[in-house]
Amino acid sequence: MRRRRSLPVSKRILVVEDNDVNYSLVAFILGKQGLQVRRAATGEEALRQAAEDEPDLILMDIQLPGIDGLEVTRRLRARPATRAIPIVALTAFAMVGDDERALAAGCDGYIAKPVSPRILLDTVQRFLGGAAEEHGAA
Ligand code: MN
Repeated sequence: MRRRRSLPVSKRILVVEDNDVNYSLVAFILGKQGLQVRRAATGEEALRQAAEDEPDLILMDIQLPGIDGLEVTRRLRARPATRAIPIVALTAFAMVGDDERALAAGCDGYIAKPVSPRILLDTVQRFLGGAAEEHGAA
């Protein structure tokens, strides 16, 4: 599927998250900024959606059923079509070393869970170049 570059579409974020509550929180925060949010609930779904949609940014949960976020990241980095998409890991605070593992797998950054709205928006803004600034960070 080719992106229609002539349309003034807003930035698109793929949120890879198997937990409904975590996803809803992240989607609410990003949606309020006018960002287009799509969800993948499994690693397999994430690989498919990233290739089809070429999102502007991927937020990647590490602990997923099936292939985990680290392996999904490695596979995205190995494919030319998805290699350049920025990936920010969502790491569990209790999992010591998740941040280093995420960077080693190819993630560009990480956010510790539970997600702080301000840190999430600051991080997204850093990778999207100000798209999240439009309505002011709450
Ligand atoms: Mn999870």
